[in-house]
Amino acid sequence: MGIVVQKFGGSSVADVEKIKNVARRVVATKLEGKSVVVVVSALGDTTDKLVELARQISASPPEREMDMLLATGEQQSVALLAMAIYELGREAISFTGYQVGIVTDNSHTKARIVDVKSERILQELEDGKIVIVAGFQGVTVDNDITTLGRGGSDTTAVALAAGLKAEKCEIYTDVEGVFTADPRIVPDALLVSEITYEEMLEMAATGAKVLQLRSVEYARNSGVIIHVRSSFTDGVGTVVKEEDEGMERPIISGVTHDTSEGKITIYGVPDRPGIAAKVFRPLAAANVNVDMIVQNVSYEGFTDISFTLNLDDLPRAVSIIENIAKELGARGHDCEKGIAKVAIIGAGMKSHPGVAAEMFDVLANNGINIQMISTSPIKIACVIDAKNVEIAVRSLHEHFQLSEEAVTSEVL
Ligand code: ADP
Ligand code: ASP
Ligand code: MG
Repeated sequence: MGIVVQKFGGSSVADVEKIKNVARRVVATKLEGKSVVVVVSALGDTTDKLVELARQISASPPEREMDMLLATGEQQSVALLAMAIYELGREAISFTGYQVGIVTDNSHTKARIVDVKSERILQELEDGKIVIVAGFQGVTVDNDITTLGRGGSDTTAVALAAGLKAEKCEIYTDVEGVFTADPRIVPDALLVSEITYEEMLEMAATGAKVLQLRSVEYARNSGVIIHVRSSFTDGVGTVVKEEDEGMERPIISGVTHDTSEGKITIYGVPDRPGIAAKVFRPLAAANVNVDMIVQNVSYEGFTDISFTLNLDDLPRAVSIIENIAKELGARGHDCEKGIAKVAIIGAGMKSHPGVAAEMFDVLANNGINIQMISTSPIKIACVIDAKNVEIAVRSLHEHFQLSEEAVTSEVL
């Protein structure tokens, strides 16, 4: 029994016509003789609206209750899609994450999947039904509902594909696949037909939200090949997989950006062993993910520490840092919201020195100041002022000639 997992994102089920479109696509796959498991996100911007509703009640709502609220979005879409499939004369059955046993840890609002129980799904597939599972949600061993972080339905799909040993994992979205930059900012960005897990991990980590970072990690760890495609057309899409011989290794395969982070700086911290641990341990304990960290050269025994983190975590992190700054006798601290991260990613960078200097030149030529830099063997990321993000992405895309197919690539 060939199982296909198909995930449809929020914009693919934003209204009734789109839900009917998804139902038609799913039924078409079923008619090809496949067993179909569908994962859906909440309708359109439902999750954003729920977040906003909660914020009107509390600046930092209890995370368990936040999960209880956010998980309702996906519960609506699975039921509506099941109804649309029945209208097409096929049998379907919808499930919450809890009902199919998507077990997670206790990290509310960014839980990790620890187990997927496949029995119930397999049994329904055996009975000929199309199985529809709510994305983005799971349940702890104590039966508390959790969510998997924004964009988490991608991870639900990959985890199900791995757990069910599916032959395909298709992520349908509102663009044709993974592009060399966000097509909303760079209209002539090119579709990338194949990309390695390694590069996609870096792209997702630096803001290419077409796939959630965790879904790519999960796919790499479990060997699931992801096929990103459009919900509205029949294009070839993008295949995300292990690097193999003959695969193109562009020097730069994409430019990404992220405006969802903020920056906290603690000034005048005593420069002695153990201070960084004192700052970052309580943040980790509070489940705050810290991204880039920069510590200045110390001056007369004192230094400044800056770090970036998701804006959603900012209020919590600031209250933690207030206490730590006092405890350490720091000179002060501040938090900044108007920042953006812009990055270039490419496996070919490993063997081409000078790429970082070129990136810095492009930013400088546009009068853009770099606040922080972080690198990996296949990525260079810079924090800049948010107001410059579009010009930075477009200039880098143009400079590295990413609209001109394979100009700067090499083959292994
Ligand atoms: P879904 O609702 O289907 O999960 P998302 O909004 O999470 O969709 O992700 C798709 C969006 O990701 C696209 O509309 C696009 O604007 C954005 N995006 C950012 N960077 C890229 C990229 N490099 N390639 C493709 N899409 C990108
Ligand atoms: N609905 C959730 C969100 O908006 C999950 C998802 O779309 O993948 O983040
Ligand atoms: Mg998404």
